[in-house]
Amino acid sequence: MRHDLIDLHLHIDGSLNIRWMYERALLRGIITQDTSFSDYYDSLFPSRESGAAIFNKFDVPLAVMQCEEDIHDACYGLVKEIAEEGLLYAELRFGPQLHTRNGLTQEEALAAALQGTHDAMCDYPSIKVNILNAFMHAGNSAKVNEKENLETLQLTEKYLGKGVAGLDLAGYENNCDFYEYAPLFQMAKEKNIPYTIHAGEMGNGENVLKAIDMGAKRLGHGIFAIQTPSYIQAIIDHDVTLEVCVTSNRSFGFNYATHPIRKLISQGVKVTINTDDGMFDLNDLAYEYFVLKKIGMTDEQFRQCNLNAVEAAFLNETEKEELRRKVLLHYGL
Ligand SMILES: [Zn+2]
Repeated sequence: MRHDLIDLHLHIDGSLNIRWMYERALLRGIITQDTSFSDYYDSLFPSRESGAAIFNKFDVPLAVMQCEEDIHDACYGLVKEIAEEGLLYAELRFGPQLHTRNGLTQEEALAAALQGTHDAMCDYPSIKVNILNAFMHAGNSAKVNEKENLETLQLTEKYLGKGVAGLDLAGYENNCDFYEYAPLFQMAKEKNIPYTIHAGEMGNGENVLKAIDMGAKRLGHGIFAIQTPSYIQAIIDHDVTLEVCVTSNRSFGFNYATHPIRKLISQGVKVTINTDDGMFDLNDLAYEYFVLKKIGMTDEQFRQCNLNAVEAAFLNETEKEELRRKVLLHYGL
C-alpha cells in the first residue's frame, strides 16, 4: 500500500532536479563550461557547521531561478516529477523576494512560478498544487526586509485562490525574536489569508508557542515542541497540525530512530509527513514513508497522516471535499 499522496511542505528551490539545474546553470553562464556535473553536485552539499550555514546551500538553485523562463521551467519540472510519483496534492513554498537579484519584481517572479505550476497541472491533471508564498527571515531583525515581506503579503492577497493558497515564514529560524513578525501575520489574518510558520525546527521549542500565539494553525516542523510537555499541549489545545519532515530534520540533530514523530503521534498531535527539500536530502515522499515504516510506523498511522493533511490543506471546502474523496477512494474507504 503506497501512502505518498499529499505533501504540504516542500520548497521549490530545495526540490529541483539537480541535472536540470546544472544544465541551466551552464546555459546561463552561471558556472563555467569546464565545471563538471560532479563538482556542481558537490556544491549543493556544503559543510553543515551551523544552522545558518545550512541555508547557504540555497544559493546554488537560487542563482538559476532569476529569470521568468527558469522559474517557470523549475516549477514545471518539479510538479511533473511529483505528479509522476503519484501525488494527489502538494503545497509548494516559494519566496518571491529571493528571485529579484537580476531585476525581476516579486510579482514577475511569482507570475512565472504560477505559470509553471499551471502548465504542469494542464499536462499532468492527476495532481493539484498550490503555492505558499514565504516571508523570509533575512537578518537579525525583521526590519531588514520588512518592505519585501510586506510586498509578499500584498502579492499573496492579490493571487489568493489563483494558484496561491497562503503564506509561510521561512529561512533561518533563530535570527531574531519571532514576535517581530507578529504584525505581518496579524495583517494576513485580517485579510483572511491562511498561513503556516516554520517554528520549532532548529532547537527552539518556544517558537512553537510564539507561532501558535501568532495564529498559526499549521507549523513547519514543530518538532522541538518535545522539549516541554506544555508546548505539546499547546499544539493539541489549539488544534494545530505539524508538517513533519523526518529526513530533513537530521540536519538538526535527529536520526530516524530519535526523531520524535512517533512520540508526537502517541500524545495526540496531528502530524503530516512531508519532504521539505528533496534535492538536498535526496528524498521523495515515498522515501519518507519507506523509512518511517522501517522504524515501526503502521499503515493505520500513515492513513491518519494523510487524512490530517486533507483537513489541514489550504483548500476551500469544495476542493477539500474532492481531495478527501480521492484519499478515501485510495484507501478503499
Ligand atoms: Zn521548510
